[in-house]
Parts: sequence; structure tokens; C-alpha cells
Amino acid sequence: RTGDESHSFKAETQMLLDMVANSLYSDKEVFLRELISNACDALEKLRFKNIETARSQIQGNEDLKIEISANKQEMVLVIEDTGVGMTKDELIKNLGTIARSGSRAFIEDMKKKGKSDMSNSVIGQFGVGFYSAFMVAKKVEVQTRSSSDKSGYKWTCDGSSIFHVEPVEKETVGTKIILHLKPEAREFADSQRVEDLVKKYSNFVRFPIKLNGNQINSVEPLWVMDPKTVTMDKHIEFYKFLANSFDKPRFVLHYKADAPVNINALIYFPEGKPGLFQGHEDGECGVSLYARRVLIKSKATEIVPKWLRFVKGVIDSEDIPLNISRELLQNSSLLRKLKSVITNRILKFLLDKSTKEPQEYTKFYDDYSLYLKEGIILGESQTEKEDIAKLLRYESSTLPPGETTSFLEYRKKMTEDQKKIYYLVAPSRELAETSPYLEAMKEKNVDVIFCYQQYDEAVLMQLKEFNSCSIISVENELRRSTQDNHVSTPGGLSESEIDALTGWMKSYLKDKVDTVRINNKLDTHPCIVTVEEMSMARHFIKTQKHGLT
Ligand code: ADP
Ligand code: MG
Repeated sequence: RTGDESHSFKAETQMLLDMVANSLYSDKEVFLRELISNACDALEKLRFKNIETARSQIQGNEDLKIEISANKQEMVLVIEDTGVGMTKDELIKNLGTIARSGSRAFIEDMKKKGKSDMSNSVIGQFGVGFYSAFMVAKKVEVQTRSSSDKSGYKWTCDGSSIFHVEPVEKETVGTKIILHLKPEAREFADSQRVEDLVKKYSNFVRFPIKLNGNQINSVEPLWVMDPKTVTMDKHIEFYKFLANSFDKPRFVLHYKADAPVNINALIYFPEGKPGLFQGHEDGECGVSLYARRVLIKSKATEIVPKWLRFVKGVIDSEDIPLNISRELLQNSSLLRKLKSVITNRILKFLLDKSTKEPQEYTKFYDDYSLYLKEGIILGESQTEKEDIAKLLRYESSTLPPGETTSFLEYRKKMTEDQKKIYYLVAPSRELAETSPYLEAMKEKNVDVIFCYQQYDEAVLMQLKEFNSCSIISVENELRRSTQDNHVSTPGGLSESEIDALTGWMKSYLKDKVDTVRINNKLDTHPCIVTVEEMSMARHFIKTQKHGLT
């Protein structure tokens, strides 16, 4: 054959190629995402060149597309784009050197020439994605024609250390990649499987993707759009796509920032209540991680804390490399940064809602407060716990029933003498108000937070303090304040009469009590029982009664 040239990969390349093909990616299926991303980059470059040379009339945007065809009989998958294509030199350089990114070189070249910065729209930059094709293909054939060439070239490689380049007839500008699939990768010749993959990873890329003639990507990537331009109808449609659900979002948080990390986030709070029987294992993470509109991981537990598993959405960061591996995802400081930025933003968003739309917030709180409380119990730092605690709402002894207060409000109303935040756990408002513990607190003349749920006690014990002010149950407070037994002549009893009374009670109750003390804080109740770790005790009593564990 004329013009057929054999080249061998640069040194170490064979090794790298084996590495990419065998272990860089944890999932074989991502090869398609990589090839589509390359096609998008090529289309983006052509679009850009057209603008540069004012040639957009010659090749209209409607011609910029990606066509995929899957042939089961022949076990072939073809991905063709109408992008810039490659010259013979570029072909040899870009596909003959692993870890050389023609795309990054292109961006840098544009920058040097003082032209617009394309780093936001071009995906590739690491120069390894293309080789992921060898995870599924025994032979890869690339036919390409550069927009600056009259004829095309063909690159072939069977995964060994040699690749061939030869001229080929190619009528249109662009690149066609033909994968001859390995027997164990036959699934990728199946149109349905390919369509599912395109929708999973590349549904939001900028250019139309056609499979066997039909366009299959459709939904706009709302999160990269200007929040002002996105209508509620679009949000509802997108939410349904994301959540696979028929309800609507009750709140929408559309957040974009460049520092400290680039982030485009779209977070939806579902209108529906959480499922009735959601235990600890309920619901998986509903947030997907994208890099430049390409899916990196759905259910991205690395970027949202577990307690926020009820939100649905997308977080896209241009700072994330496309080929980040599972292992890296878990240890990446970038992702930790993203997680903290997004968590703080969500907390701030909810706090704003609580003041600006209190009614809507109350409805949300009624449905989802359990998740916030879980966040406090599992919170990694005191700051995090207190940030979530700002969202909690409780009734209190000085407020009429039905009205609630927050820790921030409570703190503001505290007088200088009050050093602690007090709460009382009781099954209902009525029992809280008639509780001997509350009666014993009345001389202090303080507001007492009422908690009607058992788990609130565990939450507040975990929280411990708020704005450097300790949170304590009135039972514990009473226990502490009666520790020094010096009560000034309650009920006119003398010191020796007190000793006689408490001594008799102790001998009568024996092991049932630790100590018996006198206090003068009660009017209508004869006595109070206090237990050191009351929540533990209550749990114990409950399990004894109901035989639960
Ligand atoms: P990256 O995309 O990170 O740059 P890849 O290994 O995926 O690395 O691709 C290597 C290079 O090959 C690209 O930078 C690009 O220059 C070139 N290339 C790959 N696919 C195409 C394509 N479909 N059209 C034009 N050039 C391509
Ligand atoms: Mg690439």
C-alpha cells in the first residue's frame, strides 16, 4: 500500500497504554464518555475557528454533531464527529503520545495568541482519555480529516506498541472512530446499552448526539445556565429527570461560584414528604457530580453529607479532572472543599428561607427536621453541628403554644445572669408545663425550650453548646444545683430534722436511690426524681417496658 507508515509509540507509552486500558478507570463503560468528550472538544474547536475566521455561514452550527452507530452483527461501534479533525502530524502527535493533550496545547496556543480563553468549554486536558477505547476494543481505527486539509488519514492500532498511519478517502471534515469490540465487550454494540450510556454520562453536552440517526441527548444543562434565565417549568422538568419522581421541587438552590473552587450547583428540595418508613438506611444520595457537563459519578456521597440525602441535584466543577478514579474521589482534598462549600451554602440557604419565608420553612421543617437532627448527631465538627442547629425550632416555656424559637433567638433574649440554655423533654406541651422540673426552675426566671421527642434529647446532648453557651436539660441543672445540700431551712425544718428525714428515706428506698436531698424549689409537687444520664435511663426504661432493644 502506498503511504502506509508504521510508527511505534514513544518509550513508556506501551506501559502507560496497558495501564489506561487495564486499571486507570474503574468502569469500562466510561470509554464512551471519553470518546464523546473528545468529539465535543473537536466540535468546540471548529466552532471557535469558524467564529475566528467568520466562516460560520459556510458551516452552520446545525452541522456540528456527533453520530454514533452500533452494529451488533459486526461487533463494531462507530463514533463520528464533524469537528476540526486532525492533520497527519496532529494524528501522529496526539494519538501517538499518551499523556499529551492536543486539547490543552490548543487552549494554551489560543491564550498565547491573546485570543479568548477556551479552558471553560474544552473538556480534555490530560491526554489519556482516548486510550480508554482499548478497554473495550481489540482494534481501534481513526479516520480523520482536518479542516485545513484536502484529504484524510487513517490511524489504526490493535493495542500493541505499533500503530499505522495511511491516507484515506474522507469526504467530510471531522473524525470517525471505529471500535472493533473485544468479545467480552459485545454489550457495547447494543444500541439500547449505548443509548443508556450516552444518557447517563453525556446527556448534557453542547452538541447533538445521534444514535443510528436519532438524536438521543435532550435535556439542557440548567446548572451551567444563568439562574435568571431558567424558568420554574424547566426546573420541574429537570427535577423529574434527576429524581425520577413525579413531585416537584419545593425550593431551588442554583449556585455558581469561582472561588475557593469552581462550582455550578443546582440543588432541589423535594416537595414530597420523606417515605413513611424511612429508617437509617433510607434513600441514597441524590446528588450527581459532573465535570464540565460530563457525569463523573451519580450518587456522589463524597460531596454531600449523608444527612442531606433527601436533596436532589447536580454539582459541576471545572476543577475536577474527568478521569478521576474512585480511589481519588475518596481522598481528594478538592472534593472535601467542594463538600464543605456546598454544605455551607445549603445551610445558609435554609437559614435565609426560615427568616424570609417562615411559613414555607415551617412546612419543610415539619417534613425534614429529622434529617437536620441526624446531621447534628453525626456532625463532624462543633461548627458544623451548630450551623445545623441554627435551623432547629422548638416551642418554649415563655412562648404561646404553636410558636417556636430558634437557638439564635433564644441566645439573643438571654439576660446576662443566664449562663446556660435550658431544655425540658416531655411528651407534650401540657406535661412540659406541669412538670415538676419546670416548677423547680421558676425561681431562675428563664425561658425553657420544650422538646416533645425522645430523640431531641440525644440531639441536644450531642450539640452540647451553642455560641459558646452550654445546653443543659433542666433535670441535670437541678441535679447539679442541689448537689451542695445546704438549703436554708426549707419548710422550717432544722438541720437535724432534715438529716433524720433524708436518712429515713434513704434507708427505706435502699438501693433504689443514690442520694436523697432536700430542696425548696417546689410548690405543688412533693418531690422530683433525677437521673444522671436521663436519656440513657429513659431509653432503658422504654426497652424494659416494650422489650425493644
Ligand atoms: P485529552 O482529551 O485529555 O486531551 P485524549 O487522550 O482524550 O486526551 O485525546 C488526545 C488528543 O487527541 C486530544 O487532545 C485531541 O487533540 C486529539 N483527539 C482525540 N479525539 C479527537 C477527535 N475526535 N477529533 C479531533 N481530535 C481528537
Ligand atoms: Mg479526552
